[in-house]
Amino acid sequence: MNQYEILKKYFGYDSFREAQETLIGSILSGRDTVGIMPTGAGKSLCFQIPALMMDGITLVISPLISLMKDQVGSLNQAGIHAAYLNSSLTMNQYYKALEFARQGRYPIIYVAPERLLTEEFLDFALHTKIAMVAVDEAHCVSQWGQDFRPSYLKIVEFIGRLPKRPVVSAFTATATKEVRDDILDILQLREPMVMTTGFDRSNLYFGVMAPKDRYGAIRNYLECHSEDSGIIYCLTRKVVEEVCERLRQDGFGVVRYHAGLSDQERKKSQDDFIYDRSSIMVATNAFGMGIDKSNVRFVLHYGMPKNMESYYQEAGRAGRDGEPAECILYYAGQDVITNQFFIDHNQDNQELDELTRALVQERDRERLRKMTFYCFTNECLRDYILRYFGEYGSNYCGNCQNCLTQFETVDVTEIARGIVGCVQSCCQRYGVNVILDTVHGANTAKIRQYQMDRNPHYGELSKVPMYRLRQVMNYLQLKEFLAVTNDEYAIVKLTANSRQVLENTEQITMRMAKEQENREKGEKKARKGQASGVVLTEQEERLFQRLRALRTEIAREEKVPPYIVFSDKTLIAMSKAAPQDKSQMLSVSGVGEFKYDKYGERFLASIQMESGQSARGQQG
Ligand code: ADP
Ligand code: MG
Repeated sequence: MNQYEILKKYFGYDSFREAQETLIGSILSGRDTVGIMPTGAGKSLCFQIPALMMDGITLVISPLISLMKDQVGSLNQAGIHAAYLNSSLTMNQYYKALEFARQGRYPIIYVAPERLLTEEFLDFALHTKIAMVAVDEAHCVSQWGQDFRPSYLKIVEFIGRLPKRPVVSAFTATATKEVRDDILDILQLREPMVMTTGFDRSNLYFGVMAPKDRYGAIRNYLECHSEDSGIIYCLTRKVVEEVCERLRQDGFGVVRYHAGLSDQERKKSQDDFIYDRSSIMVATNAFGMGIDKSNVRFVLHYGMPKNMESYYQEAGRAGRDGEPAECILYYAGQDVITNQFFIDHNQDNQELDELTRALVQERDRERLRKMTFYCFTNECLRDYILRYFGEYGSNYCGNCQNCLTQFETVDVTEIARGIVGCVQSCCQRYGVNVILDTVHGANTAKIRQYQMDRNPHYGELSKVPMYRLRQVMNYLQLKEFLAVTNDEYAIVKLTANSRQVLENTEQITMRMAKEQENREKGEKKARKGQASGVVLTEQEERLFQRLRALRTEIAREEKVPPYIVFSDKTLIAMSKAAPQDKSQMLSVSGVGEFKYDKYGERFLASIQMESGQSARGQQG
């Protein structure tokens, strides 16, 4: 079989995605190959398909037991024999798996890196034909990455011990140059073909909100998306507890996850979420690594993460199946302070000398600042993200809150001049709040103590509402007309550009959302149901629900997560097409022959039942 036939027969897909074809071609030509593609781009197929075509076994190195389990589960569901070798197996199971491997039963074997140099494993590997070593999550070799794993360094030694060097391929979603160079060097790849695809995830909708009642906003969101599965990330364990408790009281089926819980509860929460027994996960950033659940329809952030890297990684857990999904950040000013605190009290850097530690802190503060700007910007959010990662987006994506918001251009020159003037006249000594209180004319003890009530700009902007002053203050920082120092005092300073404001040489305009409140209400209605993808007619929606119930039933029987039986995307396609026979069913994207043989009939029967019922409904 060639790669196209395998894609159709086992995975049920009609065509390869961008890059997959090139990567597979390169591996099949015997060349070392590196694929750097965002989450959900479909990296697994790039090594799984060649593995089925090459003469010999493919070893896949993967850092986490949960990832191995998930992928091996998917392969077996698709009718491909695969196994994993890691510490979750008992001694007996392990030897049994090795024995089957020796007999050549598995074209693909997932191995934990710690196993590679053990005696039993080497004994197997040295006497077997290994066609390829595929390193998944390859950024784990790099100390620059967030998930460095020393055991990944063993991979090269292992490859060196093999009688014949196999093709080596490596895959990751981490794009930075340092990490990429480390992958090439440390894995000692030979003239590799390196393919990097864009980091855009066009199916993800991005939004930022700053609601007064954060909890209420999240609850509203959940009410409007009660059919969907999603994650709510919180900044601290305490907030996880609070949000989880309130949601339970409000009748939502949620589970929680953070580093303070027992291993047992964490595992149970994770399983409940993955197996769709609980549709909402409330967690700290401790949750998510190694979660391949493809039908996460939304990732909400109850609080701003510490940098864009974290945000994009966490948000990116939505919509892995390529169906529309939403990533919304609920921001509050307090988040900056919480994150500052984390940076100032970071325990990870204990071993660094003072100078290096200061540099790391400085860098972290800078990253936090960029994260904060993401919350303020009125430009395309996707463009902001892509530019942060060194790519050029277009300044209109049409699928983020800012692109979909009606903006009006407001002249804020006067306000800007008042604020910048105040910063100048107080000799750049105070923080944001003092400056804004001064121009607003607040009569507080602090203002009197600092004698800011005698500042020439005192009360100058008393008619402008405080929220507008804040918006302009944020905007002035974003555009570098002002800067705020990166230390705990956060003093507002002038910049080289400040003069343009003071001397009135520049008109300052800002894009502001029109009628914010009405829009939010309308949006809530408009978006309901849309998160789960293509808009379904009422009839298709009924069928979808029925097929989903069948999927849950089958998943229980097979003891696998529902999305491994069929993805949401496949079920939606099936509901739209409503296939009536085998050949129609096989033309649905995601339905391969093996899966058809296993449950195709049951899905066909379910479709027939639904159409029978709706026909009767129409008659009566
Ligand atoms: P990654 O490892 O890059 O994050 P995965 O390999 O887990 O991504 O794939 C993400 C999803 O995309 C899976 O549900 C997979 O079945 C699906 N997928 C992969 N390739 C294709 C394709 N050519 N057509 C349709 N869906 C695909
Ligand atoms: Mg992957």
